Amino acid sequence: MERKHFLKLLAALPLSVAAMKLHELQQITSTFSPSVKMPVLFLGHGSPMNAIEENEFVTGFRNVARNIPKPQAILCISAHWETPGTFVTAMQHPQTIHDFGGFPKALFDVQYPAPGSPELARETQALLNPTEVGLDEKWGLDHGAWSVIKHLYPAADVPVIQMSLDYRQTPQYHYDLAKQLSALRSKGILIIGSGNMVHNLGLVDWQNLNKVDYAYEWAAEANEKMKKFLNTNDHKSLINFRSQGKSFDLAIPTPEHYLPLLYTIALKEEKEELALFNDKAIAGALTMTSVRIG
Ligand code: ZN
Repeated sequence: MERKHFLKLLAALPLSVAAMKLHELQQITSTFSPSVKMPVLFLGHGSPMNAIEENEFVTGFRNVARNIPKPQAILCISAHWETPGTFVTAMQHPQTIHDFGGFPKALFDVQYPAPGSPELARETQALLNPTEVGLDEKWGLDHGAWSVIKHLYPAADVPVIQMSLDYRQTPQYHYDLAKQLSALRSKGILIIGSGNMVHNLGLVDWQNLNKVDYAYEWAAEANEKMKKFLNTNDHKSLINFRSQGKSFDLAIPTPEHYLPLLYTIALKEEKEELALFNDKAIAGALTMTSVRIG
């Protein structure tokens, strides 16, 4: 039966029956079958060159994918898609967006042709109700998503959608919104936050962009504090990152690379395990520290 006709029929039914039928309808329209609870990731993406380079971080991304069940689809919250309001990509075939400049042609040649998932976009929209979530047909996959997901699933055979960051909102708002995505974890959906915990491009040592284990004092201090908060489930301190002193202010000059971390930790259940990987600083003012929950 078509959804339209089904809904018309619902209107004619007594309320309790209608509620039951609506529940059935929701089950029918859910494309994603129950699964074991999927882990949640935060991936430090660093330079876009990680998309085409071979290095220890890329190895870290590959390893994490090898050790988790293959997802039915991915929902990625990337630092590189900020909008007024919240949107999810809803196209069948998201384009690969090369949203950077000054890199070699080989990087611009990269295509990551993973399909989209209009079904997951609609399901996410329904889940976040009453927060208004727009269905986007124009974006695609920015490098915050494809430069890392391509290492997790090189065959591009897992559908990917992105969810934007509403730049008008508070950190607490992002954290609370993320919590509402929890049900997706039991439907085979891998939720990935992609950013960098310490990310100050203005202070990056560009001459040493590939220098690993190289952190300014404030960067190392912020990274250690963040890890302590992560390991002790102190989400309050992570949400209130603007009250953590000078090292945090330097590590997070603008919030977009940090906020995806809040989406990831918001989905952690009390007793779940949290593991860190790629925990290294580069170029003085960046950390690649990544998180796996569950
Ligand atoms: Zn970035």
